[in-house]
Amino acid sequence: MRHFAVVGSGPAGFYTAEALEKAYGDQARIDILDRYPVPYGLIRFGVAPDHQSLKAVSKRYDKVAERAGVDFIGNVTVGADISVAELLELYDAVILATGAPHDRKLGIPGEDLPGVVGSAEFVGWYNGHPEFADLDPFLHGAHAAVVGNGNVALDCARILAKTRHEFEGSDIVGHALDALDHSAIRTITILGRRGPHQIAMTPKELGELGHLEAAVPVVEPSDFPPVEADEPLEPGLRKSVTLLRGFADLQQDKAKHMVFDFFAKPLRVEGDGKVERLIVERTELDEKGAARGTGETYEVPASLVITAIGYSTSPIPDVPFEGGKFVNEGGRIADRLYAVGWARRGPSGTIGTNRPDGYEVAEQIAAAMPAEGSGGREGATALKRLLESRGVMPTDYDDWRKIEETEVSRARPGSPREKFVRHQDWLQVLGR
Ligand code: NAP
Repeated sequence: MRHFAVVGSGPAGFYTAEALEKAYGDQARIDILDRYPVPYGLIRFGVAPDHQSLKAVSKRYDKVAERAGVDFIGNVTVGADISVAELLELYDAVILATGAPHDRKLGIPGEDLPGVVGSAEFVGWYNGHPEFADLDPFLHGAHAAVVGNGNVALDCARILAKTRHEFEGSDIVGHALDALDHSAIRTITILGRRGPHQIAMTPKELGELGHLEAAVPVVEPSDFPPVEADEPLEPGLRKSVTLLRGFADLQQDKAKHMVFDFFAKPLRVEGDGKVERLIVERTELDEKGAARGTGETYEVPASLVITAIGYSTSPIPDVPFEGGKFVNEGGRIADRLYAVGWARRGPSGTIGTNRPDGYEVAEQIAAAMPAEGSGGREGATALKRLLESRGVMPTDYDDWRKIEETEVSRARPGSPREKFVRHQDWLQVLGR
């Protein structure tokens, strides 16, 4: 019997567990560990609450968790409750699927002023991540700015722009819904350091901005190159650029404006004790397509600034780490130690990208460790013994089901669930 520990229960962890289960059948036990008693990582805490169809993928993960050879072990923090070296003594292989939960920094003066938040914090706040339940983003000014031209920037801007009515059917947490309902924000400036041809936003997500109840996208026509220049673009990007061109032609007006400010590089954040404005430099593209400052600067008023410029993985003691992710070759970090998903590749790609990623690493493991063999390791039995001796009480998949049932039973009308936003609330449901 083989024993595998997958650390992290987001998409990458679940696809890897699924692949290992397929490769080994009843010759292996696979434990999916998570620091929280609730699984699914990015699906629960990252995917926008008004994108329920994307969240439905967790049903597939449920099926994996229900397989006989797979266990969910929650409430265990690897690196604090147990080290990777200890896990390697208990398991044949350890696969780090810890995602990329930290915001990359702009690295400009004033970034630490109150009112500047990272997208991981803001997204975590409206998605019920316990670390960010108390974020209380400043929504009482008329202007907000979102830095970045990727899908996360779009998510943040859209959430700021929607009406209460537009959140029907979503699982946005109650504290965020109420705060957003009373928000004074009327202008959301979305800053891209390059132009419309360099955006990282995808057409489906961008297209949503054209149909909002109380907000319109505003795009400056002179930011575009001649329309013929769209021809050679990759089809998805061409579609996005066509949508942006359509936004630039829009005649309608609504109460809120989502202003695309292209060729705009933040130089510093200013304000008296809290953010009041961004000082921005106009850019142009250099020969290699990178943003080059032109020396022209201007102000963008903002009492809330959200930076959405990418994420990095959390380092774990004794695991080689560089450039925001674990150092690995094709997923292999060291003997019997692997990384998958964003912890392996960095924060790019869709949820589905993690499937081939997890399968590839599972194949490598299966090639290195035949099903017939045994590493003589004890897996979960020994893990639980060790955790107990340290006063750590792990949770299991049935515990998650109890939490989920309670969340569903607390849902406001039209919402699939009302999430608990504090670790102790999860434990309280379990009578701990
Ligand atoms: P992303 O797609 O990599 O976009 C990051 C953006 O930040 C880029 O526009 C980048 O501009 C900009 N940026 C980076 N450093 C900057 C700096 N110092 N100053 C100004 N701008 C800077 O990352 P993401 O939006 O965090 O998304 C992560 C992944 O999740 C992506 O693959 C995304 O598609 C996916 N995602 C998908 C969905 C969905 O499908 N609905 C939703 C959310 C996220 P440059 O190009 O100039 O570097």
